[in-house]
Amino acid sequence: MKKVYLDNAATTKVSGEVLAAMKPYFSRKYGNASEPHLWGAEAKQGINEAREKVASFLGAKPNEIFFTSCATESINLSHKGLIERIMNDELRIMNKKPHIITTQIEHKAVIETCKHLEKLGWAEVTYLPVDKYGLVSVEDVKRAIKLNTVLVSIMYVNNEVGTIQPIAEIGKLIKSINAIRQSNKRIFFHTDATQGIQYLDCNVDRLGVDLLSMTGHKLYAPKGIGALYVRLGTPLVRQQDGGGQELGLRAGTENVPYIVGLGKAIEIAEYQISNIKYQIERLRDKLIEGVLKIPGTKLTGHPEKRAPHIASFVIEGVEGEAMLLYLSEKGIAASSGSACTSGTLEPSHVLTAMGIPAETAHGSLRFSLGKDTTEEEINYVLEVLPKVAERVRKMAPKLLRDLNR
Ligand code: PLP
Repeated sequence: MKKVYLDNAATTKVSGEVLAAMKPYFSRKYGNASEPHLWGAEAKQGINEAREKVASFLGAKPNEIFFTSCATESINLSHKGLIERIMNDELRIMNKKPHIITTQIEHKAVIETCKHLEKLGWAEVTYLPVDKYGLVSVEDVKRAIKLNTVLVSIMYVNNEVGTIQPIAEIGKLIKSINAIRQSNKRIFFHTDATQGIQYLDCNVDRLGVDLLSMTGHKLYAPKGIGALYVRLGTPLVRQQDGGGQELGLRAGTENVPYIVGLGKAIEIAEYQISNIKYQIERLRDKLIEGVLKIPGTKLTGHPEKRAPHIASFVIEGVEGEAMLLYLSEKGIAASSGSACTSGTLEPSHVLTAMGIPAETAHGSLRFSLGKDTTEEEINYVLEVLPKVAERVRKMAPKLLRDLNR
């Protein structure tokens, strides 16, 4: 059977070059990087080189890069670490909770972290709305800023619909506000760059961010490795206590092979970006054009300000999960924003924030392309999808009834 993997926003395969770079660190250079002997020094060198590669990609200094297990951990460390530190600062003495601004369309890693801080009573949070394209307005960010605002956290690219947020513009806004604030009242700016890292400019100075989260498995490194960029002078309390690894910010023996793998993946991304970006964009546009020919289909996300690898839709009268199963039968991997748990359908929080009615949101479908996606694969999807959509549409009322029972 033909197999077409179009779920690269969920995860990518580990590339051959990355795997080759990692291999020696499993069985030959296997030392503990904290030890002073030869084995330790080899491991430490692997980590240092990876740190330099990530730093170079972001236009940062190596001592501003901290390796974690994933983007979720990076986000938790960033937000909880900053708020814990600020809770002990002047704002607390003023009896005002630190204020966080984020959006309604963030990944759960951000939303749940913010909710946790609210629940603890450590922070108040504003969840900004978005427009019908999933775009946040810079004006809304400006209006939401208060005297006790300490953190603005806005994702670079939305993982469900691919919309690119105006991070550099928001960075400029925050910089201008910080310029007239006392240094101990400054606002820190975080972006979750998990879906932007492969294709967009992630230079932290051009973006104006103080904190940036990423994960390896969306760019051909393995699952279980991530990084957090922390601009020098950004106060964080570590969230994992123990030894002094990662410059004291994240305790625990380093996962050397995976760190090396992330370094290699970033290095490859740095020189490949401009080549593969246009190739992927072209295939994505062909896919969008073809899918929109199916009656009752709408593109979700911004028509132009969208990441090269994400093509997302809602198809009226179908249930996304059912589409995925039928596509999988035909060897095609895609994804749907609708979560189907315990027999009840919960529409995607991203699509509902964009004003898409719950019934329509159930019919969401996301294809995410990768560097190995071919024209032939796109043609195959365009051949199969209209038939699958028709088949699911015919069954939809019964399926929805069964799932809601
Ligand atoms: N943020 C975004 C935008 C994502 O797409 C993902 C993964 O899907 C994450 C965060 C979390 O990444 P991880 O599961 O590697 O922590």
